[in-house]
Amino acid sequence: MRIGLINVDSKLPNLALLKLAAWHKQQGHEVEIYTPIEAAIDPFDMVYASKVFANTPDCPYLPEDAILGGTGYNYSVLPDEIEHICPDYSLYDMQYSLGFSSRGCIRKCPFCIVPAKEGGIKEHSSLSEFVRHKEVRLLDNNFLASPLWRDKLHEMIDRKLKVDFNQWLDIRLITDENAELLTRLNPPYLRFAWDFVELEGQVRKGLETLKKAGFPIGKRRVNMYLLTNYNTTPQQDLYRIETLKAMNVLPYVMVYEKHKAHRLMRELQNWANQPHILFKYTWSEYRAARKLPAIGGDVI
Ligand code: SF4
Repeated sequence: MRIGLINVDSKLPNLALLKLAAWHKQQGHEVEIYTPIEAAIDPFDMVYASKVFANTPDCPYLPEDAILGGTGYNYSVLPDEIEHICPDYSLYDMQYSLGFSSRGCIRKCPFCIVPAKEGGIKEHSSLSEFVRHKEVRLLDNNFLASPLWRDKLHEMIDRKLKVDFNQWLDIRLITDENAELLTRLNPPYLRFAWDFVELEGQVRKGLETLKKAGFPIGKRRVNMYLLTNYNTTPQQDLYRIETLKAMNVLPYVMVYEKHKAHRLMRELQNWANQPHILFKYTWSEYRAARKLPAIGGDVI
């Protein structure tokens, strides 16, 4: 049996396809990842297509009977025996492991699909289920909300894993204990988010706790995602960026509904998301160099 896998809107390794590949190979099937380039009769007995984003273009040449999955199409989940198989990392010749140790989240941020798609926090997989390399990209939505975070951090430290908490950690859940464990784990960088302006106190407290534990905050090894164009003013966006810059934390501006955003928001993103530019120029200098207009008088 020949199985075709289509990664519709990304060139990055797709976890569901990696698991489907592993499972079908286990059944003795041939598996191939491919991109259909015309509406031809394809040579596969079964085709799966995965799409991550709802607002990206679909593949125009999908076979009619292709099995569709991923948030871009629907909220379907893989059967347990496929979901809990170790991904076939050879599909993309990957030198790192990828997976979720927990799913869901304890929070209900209104701009986020996780609460509707996955519900509350729940354990998903042990690390041994999917970790096959020293380098690991962990996709947990809110790793520190998992009741097992302590055991998992100890296991990562014991196994000397190089972990990228790819979907960000929750700065509100930083404690003396997990800050100390994260410092011992010593990932290349930590990612957090400061989406709501009113979280400033908790953001500062979390960063301070990490610093006290010895994590090198001042060495630009912390990224802070900032949601903009959602419920903040441009002044509040600028304030968050400059506050982080002063602490040597790297802001990363995300523009909500970018297609509807004022051009200046995208410029703010261009300035803030490139550390070599951010740390060289103030916003005023950058704006003057780019001859950018002010919004509504001289808003920013
Ligand atoms: S904390 Fe993160 S994952 Fe959880 S609801 Fe908010 S944005 Fe989504």
